[in-house]
Amino acid sequence: MSSVPVLEFEQVTLTYPGPPPVEALHPCDLAVGPGEFVAVVGPSGSGKSTFLNVAGLLDRPTAGRYLLDGLDTAALSDGERTELRGRRIGLVFQSFHLLAHRSATENVALATLYAPNGGRRRTARRHAEAREALEVVGLGHRLDALPSRLSGGERQRVAIARALVGLPSLLLCDEPTGNLDSATAASVLTLIEQLNADGMTVVLITHDPQVAARAGRTVVIRDGVLTEAADR
Ligand code: ADP
Repeated sequence: MSSVPVLEFEQVTLTYPGPPPVEALHPCDLAVGPGEFVAVVGPSGSGKSTFLNVAGLLDRPTAGRYLLDGLDTAALSDGERTELRGRRIGLVFQSFHLLAHRSATENVALATLYAPNGGRRRTARRHAEAREALEVVGLGHRLDALPSRLSGGERQRVAIARALVGLPSLLLCDEPTGNLDSATAASVLTLIEQLNADGMTVVLITHDPQVAARAGRTVVIRDGVLTEAADR
């Protein structure tokens, strides 16, 4: 049985114009199927941010094709790419990027304001969805807390709830545990594993082989070249 990959790179390349030009991502093929948990691991300077920017529809490849849920993203305008990102990709960053003066619920609810038709959905409905997403990440008891009253791990859970609330096809995480102590990092990784077990497709970018080891599959990036890691 074949299913359409969530993320599919066909000879995707990214060259920064320079001068001198830097081919930060060499032509690479990658397919991530629905329900997979893939780690992209590599040292500093290997091309991880470049990969993230392309996979997250923040940068266009300079060559090759990127299909998201089978849709060729090259043909899309910048506005359509932004809309597609909002609808299909949940981004989680190392630094949580929460609004300091908004509660956990408001931080999550604001993410749906810019979703298609988000502006027309009633505030009460958006807040109900936000509370539901916060329950999923185990923060049902901290709905009204400001980020300053939350621990690092709780802040990252709010950021994960914000990524999930739009029901994306792909959860794209960039060093999600990079700002957390090891015990908190472990619990955030457990949450990501649970979300994956419930069907979410996850791509997690990290420099840390121990974090990568939590994924079902590892792709190594080195000098802009993606290579499938040997089976563990
Ligand atoms: P990582 O995230 O793994 O540290 P990056 O994707 O940031 O790696 O960088 C990959 C390569 O591309 C590095 O050699 C870096 O110096 C180069 N690079 C990154 N951004 C730019 C840019 N805007 N212009 C030119 N070169 C860049």
